[in-house]
Amino acid sequence: MTEILVFCETNEEKLDSSTGELLAAGRKLSNELSLPVSAVIFNPNAEMTKEASSLGADKVYKVNDPKFEHKTDEIFTHGLFETCKQIKPTVILAAKTSLGRNVAARTAYRLKSTVAQDCMDISGDKNTGLISVTRPVYGGNAQAVFTFTKPLNQMVILRVKTFEPLPIDNTKIAEEITLEIPIPDAKLKVIDTVKQEFEGVRLEDASVIVGGGRGLGGPEAFEHLEELAKILNGAVGASRAVCDAGWLDHSYQIGLTGKTVTPDLYITIAISGASQHMAGCSASKNIIAINKDGDANIFKEASFGVVGDWEQILPSFTATARELTQS
Ligand SMILES: Cc1cc2nc3c(=O)[nH]c(=O)nc-3n(C[C@H](O)[C@H](O)[C@H](O)COP(=O)(O)OP(=O)(O)OC[C@H]3O[C@@H](n4cnc5c(N)ncnc54)[C@H](O)[C@@H]3O)c2cc1C
Repeated sequence: MTEILVFCETNEEKLDSSTGELLAAGRKLSNELSLPVSAVIFNPNAEMTKEASSLGADKVYKVNDPKFEHKTDEIFTHGLFETCKQIKPTVILAAKTSLGRNVAARTAYRLKSTVAQDCMDISGDKNTGLISVTRPVYGGNAQAVFTFTKPLNQMVILRVKTFEPLPIDNTKIAEEITLEIPIPDAKLKVIDTVKQEFEGVRLEDASVIVGGGRGLGGPEAFEHLEELAKILNGAVGASRAVCDAGWLDHSYQIGLTGKTVTPDLYITIAISGASQHMAGCSASKNIIAINKDGDANIFKEASFGVVGDWEQILPSFTATARELTQS
């Protein structure tokens, strides 16, 4: 057994918020397996290295190459694969982000290893070095525990927001190691990068989400959801039916084939609560549902619910939220 490797993602010259969560999961495994936690960062700056250290990394591997400028699966897969070949980690932790889940799966394939997707918990057996993970099955209707069979390159993709980052410890100083990895020219050529502009909180980071479904009747209704989300300092999300209809972009989609969210509060408005939708939000701490159909599945998942037409319920809900947040 060697070490627990965290694949760190970066965003605009900073570590992505998922890194702290992965390092916290890594420290949990470190206690169970008595192994050090390392972080690999592609094109790090000094702040990123320091942050990874203060969030729990014992070692930081730095890999530098201008080709990491574009977040393409191909280049990052090459980088992570070569890193794993050099250090032969016992476990690799990646976040369930669009880059993380693709790179982790592709790297595991190249390593001829196994990947566990969408994990919500993780533990290690000190005697065998084998990792067990808990992950949803049957479209989120049940959870199952899986155990790897070989204690090498066990690739785990963790759902974001399942681990709390540890408190920052600025006294911790990780060992820094620069890895020399030749990066080949990419087959995929990035022609242009368009930054998605948005105001407020990112869906993935929001502690309050107001989600809308097909029952809203059209894109105009989302203005009302935006209003409520703004009052609660939250973000707007949607069901796939809404995104497929083109009312909102697919970056708003929550569910099996969309984003996984774990807010403190998820307010669903005119969403039926299909299992594929719930697969992306069932770990929300509280769900409040507004739906005109009292038999809708969402009421089985919600802690609080209102049966009725959203157009009649939402205005007073929003007014009360405004009153309570202003007082
Ligand atoms: C492989 C696969 C992957 C999928 N992935 C996803 C995914 O990632 N995310 C996802 O969301 N779905 C996903 N789906 C689709 C999923 O099965 C559902 O079809 C979808 O979630 C339904 O969206 P909805 O609840 O908005 O619409 P509907 O099922 O049409 O429900 C609309 C709800 O609005 C209520 N309503 C209507 N009018 C009003 C009103 N005036 N006031 C209050 N309530 C009202 C209705 O009672 C109903 O419950 C996937 C499906 C498949 C097969």
